[in-house]
Amino acid sequence: MNIETKCLHEGYYPKNGEPRVLPIYQSTTYTYDSTEHIGKLFDLTADGHMYSRISNPTVGAVEEKIASLEGGVGALCTTSGQAASLISILNILKSGDHFISASTIYGGTINLFAVTLKRFGIECTFVDPDASEEDIQKEFKENTKAVFGETIANPAISIFDIEKFSKIAHKNNVPLIIDNTFATPILCRPIEFGADIVIHSTTKYMDGHALQVGGVIIDSGNFDWKNDKFLEFTEPDDSYHGVIYTKQFGKAAYIAKARVQLMRDLGAYPSANSAFLLNLGLETLHIRMETHCRNAESVAEFLNKCDQIEFVNYPTLKGNKYNDIARKYLPKGCSGVISFSIKGNRENAIRFMDNLKLASKVVHVADIRTCVLHPASSTHRQLTDDQLIAAGITPGLIRLSVGLENIDDILEDIKQALDKI
Ligand SMILES: *Cc1c(COP(=O)(O)O)cnc(C)c1O
Repeated sequence: MNIETKCLHEGYYPKNGEPRVLPIYQSTTYTYDSTEHIGKLFDLTADGHMYSRISNPTVGAVEEKIASLEGGVGALCTTSGQAASLISILNILKSGDHFISASTIYGGTINLFAVTLKRFGIECTFVDPDASEEDIQKEFKENTKAVFGETIANPAISIFDIEKFSKIAHKNNVPLIIDNTFATPILCRPIEFGADIVIHSTTKYMDGHALQVGGVIIDSGNFDWKNDKFLEFTEPDDSYHGVIYTKQFGKAAYIAKARVQLMRDLGAYPSANSAFLLNLGLETLHIRMETHCRNAESVAEFLNKCDQIEFVNYPTLKGNKYNDIARKYLPKGCSGVISFSIKGNRENAIRFMDNLKLASKVVHVADIRTCVLHPASSTHRQLTDDQLIAAGITPGLIRLSVGLENIDDILEDIKQALDKI
């Protein structure tokens, strides 16, 4: 199946007389004929659902669809993008370990990595993603266990060179984790460029309708965990009578471990109802992404010609430093998200925002409706000035998430707000 067809059909295959639409299996529990079978479930030697903190048939269908869209061997849905980032890291690292992350990532992820994971004893070094391979290599230590980056950075709208980082990560025998939230598998499939693990905040384009917060982790199945850095994968897990993940689950060792060990213990699994709604979003993802990209390109071109604008970040704009890399990783378009800075001070940016009529001022992005945000006073408020600059954010920066309205209406709204500064 091509990716558009997968959006509609993967994950749920109704048999004769069964409901055409993915049912909501609203049940916490599953019934079995024998205690022996249940025992096998707990030993991980039989297939089947045990309890809806670990798996559920509705969520499972959506996981199968997303794994297929990204080209992975398995996926695990989570209650938020933050939970997906956290579990993707905790599945590999423990107290005393270190990892490397691009500095141009989502503000919430920066807090998680720099503050909360540090309290867990896990250390993160942030690097400039555009630094040379030699400079990035210098940040690797004996205890470095992973590398992390964002395909299209929120809100800097810089593009991460996935292949460059996968080469560096693999040379050091560690996996590359990619947050592919803004690109979605419609625009970019990081596994094709060497990523080992992909995560998403499904809250954004995948859901697309601003209905609910969610996340997902996808396992490429390509990373070889059988090296002495990852003993949790190759040595018996006492919490499952000594199961060895690489032996029991082969290529799907990472995602199986994340589910049966971390999801069991941390409990951040979405409900069947949540997965049902996410699936509705996924069914039209390919159509929506096309229009988001087309509309955003028009808005970026327009803003680029306006006197009141200091600069516009959108990778396909002529002269943008990511032109070539965008063509390589995002040939179908670069999503609906643009960032730009209004000339003058922070107040001008705020005046522009407050005069918009169609675009909603919300702490959200990647919605079907056009929306705007001032990162320095909201999502990235907790960052220091240095962290702001490293994340590609200036005080006057505005993040505009271009929706699916008629392009003339979107442009008209922007024009009238610019006129009022
Ligand atoms: C929003 C976002 C997150 C966090 O996801 P939540 O679903 O809000 O927890 C992570 N990464 C990126 C790129 C995001 O835009």
